[in-house]
Amino acid sequence: MRIEQDIKLGFQDVLIRPKRSTLKSRSQVSLERNFTFKHSKKAWEGVPIVAANMDSVASFAMAEALAKHKVLTAIHKHYSVKDWEVFLSQADKLTLQHMMISTGTSKKDFDKLTDIVGLSPDLQFICIDIANGYSEHLVDFVASVRARFPEMTISAGNVVTGDMVEELVLAGSDIVKVGIGPGSVCTTRVKTGVGYPQLSAIIECADAAHGLGGRIIGDGGCTCAGDVAKAFGGGADFVMLGGMLAGHSESGGEVIEKEGKKYVKFYGMSSKSAMDKYAGSVAAYRAAEGKTVHLPYKGKVDNTVQDILGGVRSACTYVGAKHLKELTKRTTFIRVQEQENNVYGKE
Ligand code: 5GP
Repeated sequence: MRIEQDIKLGFQDVLIRPKRSTLKSRSQVSLERNFTFKHSKKAWEGVPIVAANMDSVASFAMAEALAKHKVLTAIHKHYSVKDWEVFLSQADKLTLQHMMISTGTSKKDFDKLTDIVGLSPDLQFICIDIANGYSEHLVDFVASVRARFPEMTISAGNVVTGDMVEELVLAGSDIVKVGIGPGSVCTTRVKTGVGYPQLSAIIECADAAHGLGGRIIGDGGCTCAGDVAKAFGGGADFVMLGGMLAGHSESGGEVIEKEGKKYVKFYGMSSKSAMDKYAGSVAAYRAAEGKTVHLPYKGKVDNTVQDILGGVRSACTYVGAKHLKELTKRTTFIRVQEQENNVYGKE
């Protein structure tokens, strides 16, 4: 047994220190980034926020709504090839350029992925996602997907430490997805005791990935626009959001009426709800590691996206970053013991 003594930080442990700036207004800030990915050599331009590959977040309708803001959607893996075919027959190019195809790591997943990739040359991203990215099996799977699709931009995860980021980049990932345990409907830390505070995970993994020309997605734990700004400030190239984009008319969750009010069901992809739906039940050898919650219905996702982008733009003006790319360089985090003043309730 060993103990690491340095404290690891979450979003709630820091604030971003303001800096003198020549920017007059947040309208002068651009949140778009251009990347050319290490292995695929493909270029992409857009706002590097990604809707999480959860079936009550990342629907086709969400992709259409978010693409208008140049934001990405990692379409959840439970659509059939037929569903994809129908969607692709009417989707516009902008939407396709802002979608990721999510997949697990079984032989069946690989075959389905091959079918979906074959449907359109405009699909550019693959998101390989397993809860425990430390499995050797993920590295092998990434290598075989890279061999089969040399021109696709591949994201793989989830991990939280630099050693595994490097291994996944070397195996063929352009992007590594970072986050174990911070998610809003995740119970991994409670069920297993395993995890890593998300801001430190982002800072350390970004450093490892960037050293090899790779990129990272900070995945999970953002509860407000300020957290998204902190994730970018910490070095995340992309930030993935589940709960913040759930509960909208495009999210695809089941709508429930309670005492005259509308709620939307939102659950973790390893929750009992998800396993009952897709696997029939929770297998005897495993525990559910996700929650099921009912969120007050939030209406169209457009307003929420504008709110998030407005917040990140404002963070950029506070530190004098004209482009999102400059935010990390201009970020100094201060460690704090307070966040919002809640005397009149929470925002
Ligand atoms: P959020 O933005 O809601 O805080 O986090 C979203 C992320 O939580 C997802 O992208 C995914 O990595 C993670 N997640 C989703 N469902 C589950 C689950 O059932 N269990 C765990 N451990 N993590 C989950």
